[in-house]
Amino acid sequence: MSLLETLNPEQLAAVTLPRASALILAGAGSGKTKVLTARIAWLIQTGQVGPSGVLAVTFTNKAAKEMLTRISAMLPINTRSMWVGTFHGLCNRMLRAHWKEAGLPQAFQILDTQDQLSAIKRMYKVLGIDAEKFPPKQLAHFVGAAKEQGLRPKDVDAYDEYHRMMVRLYEAYEMQCQREGVVDFSELLLRSFELLGANPALRAHYQARFKYILVDEFQDTNALQYNWLKRLAGEQGCIFAVGDDDQSIYAFRGARVANMAQFELDFNVQNRIKLEQNYRSVGNVLTAANALISNNKSRLGKELWTQAGEGEPIRVYEATSDQDEAAFVIERIKKLVLEEGFSRSDIAVLYRSNAQSRVIEQGLFNAGIAYRVYGGLRFFERAEIKHALAYLRLLDNADDDNSFSRVVNFPVRGIGSRTIEQLQDTATAQGTSLFRAIVGMQGRSQASLQKFADLIDRMRFETRGMPLPELVDKVIHDSGLIAHFEKDKDGEDRVENLKELVNAAASFSVSEGYYQDTPATMLDEEKLTTPLADFLSHASLEAGDNAAAAGQDAVQLMTVHSAKGLEFHCVFVTGLEEGLFPHENSLSTSVSGSDGGAVDGVEEERRLMYVAITRAREQLYLSHAQQRMLHGQIRYHLRSRFLDELPENVLKWLTPKRAHIASQGWSGLDNQIGWGAQSIHGNRAALSYTSKAPRPYPIGTGVNHARFGDGVVVAYEGEGEEQRIQINFGAQGMKWLMLSLAKLTKS
Ligand code: ATP
Ligand code: MG
Repeated sequence: MSLLETLNPEQLAAVTLPRASALILAGAGSGKTKVLTARIAWLIQTGQVGPSGVLAVTFTNKAAKEMLTRISAMLPINTRSMWVGTFHGLCNRMLRAHWKEAGLPQAFQILDTQDQLSAIKRMYKVLGIDAEKFPPKQLAHFVGAAKEQGLRPKDVDAYDEYHRMMVRLYEAYEMQCQREGVVDFSELLLRSFELLGANPALRAHYQARFKYILVDEFQDTNALQYNWLKRLAGEQGCIFAVGDDDQSIYAFRGARVANMAQFELDFNVQNRIKLEQNYRSVGNVLTAANALISNNKSRLGKELWTQAGEGEPIRVYEATSDQDEAAFVIERIKKLVLEEGFSRSDIAVLYRSNAQSRVIEQGLFNAGIAYRVYGGLRFFERAEIKHALAYLRLLDNADDDNSFSRVVNFPVRGIGSRTIEQLQDTATAQGTSLFRAIVGMQGRSQASLQKFADLIDRMRFETRGMPLPELVDKVIHDSGLIAHFEKDKDGEDRVENLKELVNAAASFSVSEGYYQDTPATMLDEEKLTTPLADFLSHASLEAGDNAAAAGQDAVQLMTVHSAKGLEFHCVFVTGLEEGLFPHENSLSTSVSGSDGGAVDGVEEERRLMYVAITRAREQLYLSHAQQRMLHGQIRYHLRSRFLDELPENVLKWLTPKRAHIASQGWSGLDNQIGWGAQSIHGNRAALSYTSKAPRPYPIGTGVNHARFGDGVVVAYEGEGEEQRIQINFGAQGMKWLMLSLAKLTKS
């Protein structure tokens, strides 16, 4: 059986396990994903299950797509009835099929993070809530955290006035979403979880259907996801979970490595297989990865080895600035492509946070090198695309108030904010949506609103029977969006993007297996949804990369988080600076925790660095900059501790390696910050410094702040009015304060 030929004995054992739950715990690049896909193909090929009996879940849409491609390559079967996707994607699929039982309108829409904030702001307006006191982001976070623990407002334990208020707002938010027929990301999961809980027949149906459930990146499941899996699998369920505790990078979002141990208990797992041979990277890369991660204390413990040679050394470059770093990356990329024969798509540039990509993008653009950014401002998040989607959503579900508010006066049609306020009042009084409240309005404002409603109704009527791309094309024109941006002298790109949306709809239809002439609003028997609704979900859930760029041979730019599970021949990890990577937030949380929690922040960053390093197959480049522009200010960072944790014998410094700090005359930060045993990052607490601006309190001196108490000065940045000071307040955490406002005294 050719399918199994390339597997090593441990992999083979995993792929061909008899029907029982199993946990494959293994390091990066050891073939976990390969094993998972091979198992699916093997189960089907040997007739143990049909495609519709398989459910596989992974973390990104890209990974899900990749999985389907790999399965199709092994087995020529129709994969449409197989459930392969992200947790959100699969829950959406279930809710589409059982909207009635789930208490949702058939055309429910999905709010992405942006939509959710505007929905909260709208709600605040109606209720007269002060957004300064209860920042919308905080409420969104509160709601998300509650839902991820499976808690509805009535279940949340509010212990003080602030939390009681948050619970009331959570409740109001929930009512608004329900009224408008919209769900946010965590609602998809919770709703689907509750649906299975409340419907024994439905639960039994799915438990019988999905004989095999497979989970990739299991270490990153949160409590609700785990419970959803458990409920879906049932008593007789069979879950095949693969994961790597060293790559757990979503603890900040509630992911729990502890789920692995829980899983072994809950499912009485007898089969625990380790894979230790790495097939991805050359020896030097693995040596570096192993050494780095050995600095973490909380590990289940495993080492990787490879048969591949050592390969080239890992190159380290110290740039004078972020511009210089970008220039280095671009020069190297040119060399790799022109002299060493790599494709552009073999090369990835990784960074810790999205804000870092701009300088590199600029450099690549100037050099004429095609590149593709994952994440960042996603295609579907661009304003003009959001507008077009809002029209499409209104065709699908006119009660979607978010979409209504977005486009009722865009392009401008003389509907003022007073009219909207009146409409909102009417809608609130009647308990209906904005769209439905129009009939209750009077006078001139009624007339202009009615014209808008007629436009929506007319578009809905005139697009009946049209396939999806044609429908999208008609809507971007008839809504007036194209004409509007054509008049705008800077609107050229936006018109291009709108047209790109038609392409996106076309390629979506093809990849989802809809026929060219399937009407956009016709129910698909298999997926129990319409192409239009399916496309709108996809727009909310998918990374939404520009369809035109998809097939292009381009350098890949992304955050380390989104690189999880992927591999590239050449990898650049940029911005290896204290405060950036490890991220400063991880450092401050680490100080506030007690011993156990204390280390978590940095350990999670280290796992992230481990993920970054292990993406590389052959060549790995690490770089850091002495100074960089960040959020409009020049910041000076020290070299990341992670660089110093790598063994010298696998590194090659392209710039002379400098001794730390003291030799730079950086006022000997090292030993002045004495936190003794309490110190987590010890003498490396200093993150940044500026050299020019006067400093009333030298770094390392003690200061007192009225609210936070005693602390030690760690760093400065900015100048004049803008000058900020960073202070380590011990148990209160690390804080950046505006020096001119902070009212500090020497302690
Ligand atoms: P990660 O933890 O990063 O997700 P992984 O454990 O899922 O990694 P895979 O992506 O499945 O690893 O495999 C890594 C690479 O090794 C892939 O290119 C895969 O094709 C290759 N590979 C895995 N097993 C073998 C094998 N037995 N023979 C040859 N190549 C293999
Ligand atoms: Mg994998």
